[in-house]
Amino acid sequence: MRPSESPSTTMSTQLKEFQEHLLKSKKIVALVGAGLSVSSGLPTFRGSQGLWKNFNMIDLATPDAFYIDPGLVWQFYSWRRYTALKAKPNKGHYALAKLSQMGKSPQSDLTYITITQNVDGLSSRSGHCKENLYEIHGSLFDLKCTSFMCNFVDHNNFKQPLTKALADTEEEFDPSHNRKRSLDEQEVSISPQFNPVKTLSEKELPQCPVCKDGSLLRPGVVWFGESLPLSLITKVDNFIESEGSPVDLILVIGTSGTVYPANSYVDRVKLKGGKVAIFNTDIENDIVVGKVKDTWGFKGDAAELLPLALKPLIGEI
Ligand SMILES: [Zn+2]
Repeated sequence: MRPSESPSTTMSTQLKEFQEHLLKSKKIVALVGAGLSVSSGLPTFRGSQGLWKNFNMIDLATPDAFYIDPGLVWQFYSWRRYTALKAKPNKGHYALAKLSQMGKSPQSDLTYITITQNVDGLSSRSGHCKENLYEIHGSLFDLKCTSFMCNFVDHNNFKQPLTKALADTEEEFDPSHNRKRSLDEQEVSISPQFNPVKTLSEKELPQCPVCKDGSLLRPGVVWFGESLPLSLITKVDNFIESEGSPVDLILVIGTSGTVYPANSYVDRVKLKGGKVAIFNTDIENDIVVGKVKDTWGFKGDAAELLPLALKPLIGEI
């Protein structure tokens, strides 16, 4: 930023440059992280002190935790499903849904994919085409069998609660109001008062309808320590690496883009001459002021900034 330029001038200069490139772009990738869903009221693992009923969320999102206490982990996921279902997609989700529809339309010469690290299902609920949506961390609304011998997956299962025993894990108890209150009324922050965790037997948890031995179903998300789904990652790689058509633009939304595989996508797009636009509450100042080559940074709420920035291409949201 030159001394004479105010932050808002910088923003509008950056926006103009970005939009010129956007309109010329034939191949676009959006990489989405938790920051996009914050405006929809969904806490991030780190944002809410990372606690659920005083358990560290990261500890619960592991294969080990499920192996040791599937009832505890299912209560946590039942709450996450409930919270995600209560949330509504925001304008940022709708903007990407519009891009996805243009990317599929025969009238448009745009090719497009969204790679999302979010498991909340808000992108698909916003009307995003499923053909160009890659949920690389899975979905809270997919259930899969835990048996090695079984490949049963139940996609987009929105039933809530999944079993009778998981019913009252959805609400938190607040003695100060002397009544149960739903997540509708409460802030995103997690109350220190809560229903105690129940001890649930495997019989009370979701079971595979295919396996005769009553194998447990588990949430269809990628847990810490697990690999990303190879078939999806291969499809994303093929899109990014396809010969003769490099990605013109990668939108990095609600994520720092510094963690694998996000960082590798950004690097690969740049290496082939593509440009980067970051929409996040936390962006290095050098990027925001336009000092980093081929990179724009729009600092703030992605749900507000994204529809504004994409408007010349997608119209009003
Ligand atoms: Zn099974």
